[in-house]
Amino acid sequence: MAGVTEQEILDALAKVTEPESGKDIVSAGLVKGLQIKDGHIGFSIEVDPKRGAELEPMRKLAEEVVYDIKGVISATVVLTAEKAQGGGAGAPGDNAPGGPPPGGPAPKIGTPDLLPGVKSIVAVASGKGGVGKSTTAVNLALGLAAAGHKIGLMDADIYGPSMPRMMGISGQPSSSDGKNLDPMENYGIKVMSMGFMVEEDTPMIWRGPMVQSALEQMLRDVNWGELDVLIVDMPPGTGDAQLTMAQRVPLTGAIIVSTPQDIALLDARRGLNMFRKVDVPVLGLIENMSYFTCPHCGERSEIFSHGGARAEADKLGMDFLGEIPLHMDIRKTSDSGRPIVVSDPDSEYAKAYRAIADKTWDNIQQTIAQQAAKAPKIVVQ
Ligand code: ADP
Repeated sequence: MAGVTEQEILDALAKVTEPESGKDIVSAGLVKGLQIKDGHIGFSIEVDPKRGAELEPMRKLAEEVVYDIKGVISATVVLTAEKAQGGGAGAPGDNAPGGPPPGGPAPKIGTPDLLPGVKSIVAVASGKGGVGKSTTAVNLALGLAAAGHKIGLMDADIYGPSMPRMMGISGQPSSSDGKNLDPMENYGIKVMSMGFMVEEDTPMIWRGPMVQSALEQMLRDVNWGELDVLIVDMPPGTGDAQLTMAQRVPLTGAIIVSTPQDIALLDARRGLNMFRKVDVPVLGLIENMSYFTCPHCGERSEIFSHGGARAEADKLGMDFLGEIPLHMDIRKTSDSGRPIVVSDPDSEYAKAYRAIADKTWDNIQQTIAQQAAKAPKIVVQ
């Protein structure tokens, strides 16, 4: 990366105006804690906490102008109220608190110290929505649990949380220690989702820093306990929000779910590139809605020229984890809260998910071993 300079960033930010004073945010002295690290840029804009919501477009614009600079991989901008006149910490729900502290890009959350019992965290991502990412995440989690592993499922798809419905869980989580929330549980899997906090049909409007704190709370302030794998259902797409999540959660690796036509459209490749940019190993690709088996005659139709994903995975140096056909039973079961891996474990579809889960488990273990070999040894005397 040919180094983005501080000057380039300040020049870009000089185009962003603080609406009340009419001054640009650089000369008004509002830009704080600028940090540049290998193309990842972070800083805060100091604002009056009462004006958090009103200034969200300004925050967004600041993020956009920085993101547009050549060489910038990610831009994380938070509104802070640390030194705002009056010294108040800001009302909860404002943009300022809850976000990372001023002084640059937020540190990774959910580090091993914070989640000591969680052995690995795996993101399930897709280049775009509607490819069956959540359905795959759920059945993969259940496939791993069926093999005897301790599994958690975190719904980071906060814009359209579907885990409560797919996992057949309703109600709200409670707290047994009065401090952290206990995850909800069904089919032997611990689940956390924003969907437990709000009605499914309530449109959720999230501002950038709120996304971060929601994610942070779901990781850090939940009693996940001992887990072999925490599966994170990512929001669809490869925008800045996803990238920031990929950076801030200490992911062991990521899995990309794609449909055959999505492969052709290169959306999956975008997903792969996103994780590679932030040094998250991609554990493999799953092709969903791969082919169609006629429920009447059993004939297999390869609607979207099946097989492309395997070839594409090979070409991109990614493992191919397996393929799942398009089938009504998969849709019906996951949409009604009885995913096929638990409701019809002997079906060919459940078997396909379990085979993918086994392969995923092997890749996770390999990746953990590789990461351990690379990590510096700490000797405690
Ligand atoms: P995403 O998370 O990518 O937006 P979902 O998992 O919500 O996608 O899936 C979108 C819709 O497609 C859901 O109704 C789901 O039941 C259905 N679906 C997903 N995978 C399959 C499949 N292999 N066969 C049939 N329907 C599927």
